Formats: sequence, C-alpha cells, structure tokens
Amino acid sequence: MKYPVYGKISGPIVLIGFGSIGRGVLPLIERHFEYDAHMIHVIDPSDEQANFLAQRGVQFHKKSLTEDNYRDILNGFFANEKQGFCVNLSVDTGSLDIMKHCRELNTLYIDTVVEPWPGFYFNDEASPAERTNYALRETVRAEKRANPGGTTAVSCCGANPGMVSWFVKEALMNIARDTDVDCDQPQSREGWAGLMQSLGVKGIHIAERDTQYVREPKPLGTFINTWSVEGFISESFQPAELGWGSHEKWMPDNAHKHDKGCQAAIYITYPGALTRVHTWCPTPGPQYGFLVTHNEAISISDYYTVGDAAQPDYRPTCHYAYHPCDQAVLSVHEIFGSGTQQKTMKILSEDEIVDGIDELGVLLYGHAKNAYWYGSRLSIKEARTLAPFQNATGLQVTSAVLAGMVWALENPEAGIVETDEMDHKRCLEVQRPYLGPVEGHYTDWTPLSTRWDHFNEEIDSSDPWQFRNILAS
Ligand code: NAD
Repeated sequence: MKYPVYGKISGPIVLIGFGSIGRGVLPLIERHFEYDAHMIHVIDPSDEQANFLAQRGVQFHKKSLTEDNYRDILNGFFANEKQGFCVNLSVDTGSLDIMKHCRELNTLYIDTVVEPWPGFYFNDEASPAERTNYALRETVRAEKRANPGGTTAVSCCGANPGMVSWFVKEALMNIARDTDVDCDQPQSREGWAGLMQSLGVKGIHIAERDTQYVREPKPLGTFINTWSVEGFISESFQPAELGWGSHEKWMPDNAHKHDKGCQAAIYITYPGALTRVHTWCPTPGPQYGFLVTHNEAISISDYYTVGDAAQPDYRPTCHYAYHPCDQAVLSVHEIFGSGTQQKTMKILSEDEIVDGIDELGVLLYGHAKNAYWYGSRLSIKEARTLAPFQNATGLQVTSAVLAGMVWALENPEAGIVETDEMDHKRCLEVQRPYLGPVEGHYTDWTPLSTRWDHFNEEIDSSDPWQFRNILAS
C-alpha cells in the first residue's frame, strides 16, 4: 500500500509520552512524513516500550519531563536551525510551558489536551473553579493574546478535543443543505457563528458510544479503558463543565459562572463522571452519557458566540456526553463507590478486543430538523486493517494528531491555534481514510422522549432542548 507523504519535517521529531496514543501515532508519522530516521525520539519515564522502539530505530530516553528540566531537555533536541516537531502525548506535563518553549525554539508543537503539571487535578487546596478545564484553557488563550502569531502550536488536537470541531463545521453545512438554506462555506469565525445561529442550533453534544469489549470480565480492583486510564480518571474527578447556551432558562443550583475570561462555560460542583445526561448516538439510539469536562465543550461554545461575551446574542450549549466502553463504566462505578483508586490500570489493546465500535460524533440539536448526529463509526475490525498498534478509539485520536501535524507543517507561522480555528476541510481530508464510516443521521429523539421521570417538576416541556431536560442526575 502506498501512503501519501504530506511533507518533510527537517529537524528532530520528539514524542513526549509513549502510551496508547504515542504507540499509535508513531506508525502514522512513519507513513506520512519525510524525515531523517536518526532524528526521531521518544521521552517517557516508563521503559515498557523500549524494545518496541529499539526495533523501529527510534531513540528512547527514559526520562520524566518536569517543571525543572523541560527547558534543558527540549533545548537538547531543538536548539539547532532545522525546524523540528514536538508531539506531546503525555500525562502530567505542563502543556502550556512546553508549548511556549517550543515556540521560542521555532519548533512546531501539537498536543491533545491542555495538561497541567502534576498536582493540579487532585489539589485539595484549589477551589473547584481553579480545577476546571476552563481555567486551563484560559491560560493558553491568554498566551495566544499576549504573543499572537509566530511558530505554530496546535492545542488540543485529538479526537475530542480536536476532530469533533471539524465535524461541527461539516454538520452545519449538511444541515444548511438539508434545510434548503443557501449559503457558501463561511470564511471567518463570525461567519460560522452566524451560520449556526441562523440555523437555530441550540446546542451540541459530543455524543460518543464505545462498544469495544473483551472476553474476560473486569476483575475487581482494575480500572479498564480504551485510552489513558490516568487521563480519564483525572477528568472524571474534575467538576462537570459545559459551554452555556443563550437559550438556557435554568441553571442547576450547584452550577457557577466564571467572572473572568471568555465566559462561555459554567461548571457544576460535582464530578463529571457522576453527572449523567440524556443523549443519542446512531447505534444505541437514546443513551446516558457522562458529562465529563473537555476543552471542546468550552472552545466550541466560545467560537460560535455572537455578540458580547458576558451577554451574548447567541451562544450554543456544548458538552461531552460520553458512554465509554462497558468495562470503563464499571470501573467508574467502582472507583467512586470505593473512594479508592484501583491498583491496576489497563488499556484494552487491539489484540484482545473481541468486537465493537467507537461511535464518536457531534449531535447538533434544536434546529428545523430537530437533531443531527455526524461522526465516525469506526469498528475495531476496520481499525485493525487501517493502522497497527491501536484500537478504534486510539485511531480516531492518532489520525487527528496526524491531520494537525500536516496542517501545522503547511501553516508553520499560525501561532497558537485550537482546532476550531484550523481548516477543517484540509484536516478531515487527511484524517478521513482512518475514520471508518463517517455518517450523518437525523433523529426525532429529544431528551423528553426518554425521560422516565415526567412527574419531575424540573422538566421543562415548553422546550425539549433545555439543559434542565438533558441533565439526568
Ligand atoms: P497513557 O496513559 O497511555 O500514556 C501516557 C504516557 O505519558 C505514559 O507512557 C507515561 O509514562 C507518560 N508520562 C507520564 N509522565 C510523564 C512525564 N513527566 N514526561 C513524559 N512522559 C510522561 O495515555 P494515552 O492514552 O497515550 O494519552 C496520552 C494523552 O493524550 C493524555 O494526556 C490523554 O488525556 C490525551 N488524549 C486525548 C484524546 C483526545 O481525543 N483529545 C484522546 C485520548 C487521549
């Protein structure tokens, strides 16, 4: 099979972190870029993959990047005149610091999440507001404002956050087409926000159902997931967060607004993985999702805001509605029930998964055709045929990293960007061959269709798409 080569990376390529996503990204880098084979490096405190890397001719550095050493370590790789690429796929490293330093070194940079240095997620002394993704994202946005332009650094470019922002734009164009709204593709943020407003979209769920499973039942004391267990535990314990739409009439008693920053989101003083919402995906139809905090919930609501940040004329609600694989659901149940983190963490590999798909898309609701899900329905079987060393969830993430890297190489002086601000068509062109069926589905489902508790006074039957109806518990 001949794969397209999208460009040449002249300097070193350094992967920080080599867990489930790093392992999947490496073969895509090997396939799709030209680079000097001696200049590819991995930094990770765990040497679990050292042999695997040695076999592929990748230089492995058994190191932990810390607040004290990251400058020296990065200088060691990137302080020459050839432009390199830093691909940050780790947990427990400060994305913003690393990104800033890479830009100073004229090194292209990409990550999949705004990750803090250790101590942030479980800091008892920090207020709930300080532990939000809103706070993390604001630090990156402030840096973008303070130092506009310059070497490209792509922030939060995985599947979600990441690819789903590109899906929102495709979905909007499809809804416009299907509701006979005559429009050209918008060319600016304002244009996209205006289109979403004119189509009457009230909100967006990042609606995901992961049905991948293995033969063995989940043992007690093991947290199982299809991607980073550490990453998922951290976000599960953060306060639930969502972009807050201008159509909302009610807020939960434990919800709070922010008094500084973009003002696009609220947070709920309750862990995201204990906050359930009613949502919809094509395979299961109606389902529960976890309202786990994610960067895209905030960035999408921010990007599509019309008018003043504090009193917008229009803003969509946006949040994650995540049904992870069944064993991850049980793992969440166990960790919160026991109050203790499981001793063993396990990411299901492509070899042991028997079957299932990761159905990950965006559900745009409240418009003339009610609700529209648009996304990737990638099965483990198809993922195995498309790229090695990853399950379906991983491939949705790694192919977004590939697309982000291609875009950064083609736009090396774009400054700090989020995926909402990138050329979604180009990115999806690169990514689509790895996504399995990418489909749009209309549904007449609303949260009121599946609420069993119609006696509940909290229900607002005047508008099915109020968050009041979406929030289950
Ligand atoms: P993982 O837990 O499998 O791997 C993380 C790796 O980081 C491990 O190998 C670990 O040893 C390494 N690491 C820990 N501390 C480090 C340090 N100080 N310096 C260097 N490396 C360090 O996680 P994963 O599934 O590969 O995910 C990687 C990252 O991508 C996580 O931050 C995760 O939250 C994020 N992610 C984003 C998306 C998305 O769609 N945006 C999806 C999946 C994962």
